[in-house]
Amino acid sequence: MEEATFLRRWLFVFLSSQKNTVQKSLFLGIEQPIINNRPQTMSLFRKIFSKEKKETLDKGLEKTKTSFFDKLSKAVAGKSKVDDDVLDNLEEVLVSSDVGVNTTLKIIERIEARVAKDKYVGTDELNKILREEIAGLLSEIDSGNASDFELPLDKKPYVVMVVGVNGVGKTTTIGKMAYQFKKAGKSVVLDRADVTIVKQSMGSDPASVAFDTLKSAVSQNADVVIIDTAGRLHNKVNLMNELTKIKRVMQKVIPDAPHEVLLVLDGSTGQNAFEQAKQFTAATEVTSLAVTKLDGTAKGGVVIGISDQFQIPVKYIGVGEGMEDLQVFNKFEFVDSFFK
Ligand code: GDP
Repeated sequence: MEEATFLRRWLFVFLSSQKNTVQKSLFLGIEQPIINNRPQTMSLFRKIFSKEKKETLDKGLEKTKTSFFDKLSKAVAGKSKVDDDVLDNLEEVLVSSDVGVNTTLKIIERIEARVAKDKYVGTDELNKILREEIAGLLSEIDSGNASDFELPLDKKPYVVMVVGVNGVGKTTTIGKMAYQFKKAGKSVVLDRADVTIVKQSMGSDPASVAFDTLKSAVSQNADVVIIDTAGRLHNKVNLMNELTKIKRVMQKVIPDAPHEVLLVLDGSTGQNAFEQAKQFTAATEVTSLAVTKLDGTAKGGVVIGISDQFQIPVKYIGVGEGMEDLQVFNKFEFVDSFFK
């Protein structure tokens, strides 16, 4: 059977067990429009990002890719068949690329199962298999397929509460989000003194700042409000109390606020990012993640591990310092850029 046909069939069987049909069709390139009574050419990946965005993503993942594929080629050096040794080496490569132990084990188990079933798997197929397994893992997390800065239509203003420790890139990420939302034609209100609108005096209580900001956003009929929270390193109880208080105060103005709790993590800290995700998810309900600084690091594998282990969608990734370098995370484009 022709390789592309086989791969498509395999993916179809695999994805048939998945629930999201939009993801399936995007993945497989099925449900293509029919023109002149003929379905258009099937493609495994439909292009979602613009050329510029794709280039930014490719560049942002360069360090991670180089390091990962160097290690991978060493792991299979002199081997033609995927055997126990290769799998052991692959496990090391994934763990040392910050994919995380649990996610690595999941990936290895899946590859083991394929090797057991197919009897012979050549090391030259390893890239392809890894790509499929990682794409499969990411497609199990229902994070939608957004490729641009969008807001739900029924929440106005849409309130985003941003959490995360100091230095991870919260301020920068909020600035970039505001820029992108504005570019998309939305009105944005921020709670930072440096960005106008609501003045925040030094040492002011974050909950009262959040209250004033929401009031101001409602009176301005804003589309989106982004609330930064204090980035101090807390113990769990203090953190929980502080975030609960901010939420309660927000709800006096908008009863179902915040609509999104975005945890910002610094991707370049690898395992530390996992730790912070653990602490914050224990302290409050985190609904989305932003992983920053992927451009400066070889630890980009952290995005795969964090998505898988916390089952919270990665919504944004930071792949540079420029305003355009915060991207809406799209798993299809991410896997495509990583493995191409
Ligand atoms: P905060 O303390 O969490 O508010 O962190 P900041 O927003 O002040 O960011 C800390 C540093 O990280 C700044 O120098 C930012 O320019 C840098 N930074 C944030 N995001 C990215 C990114 O995606 N890529 C790179 N290279 N640097 C980033």
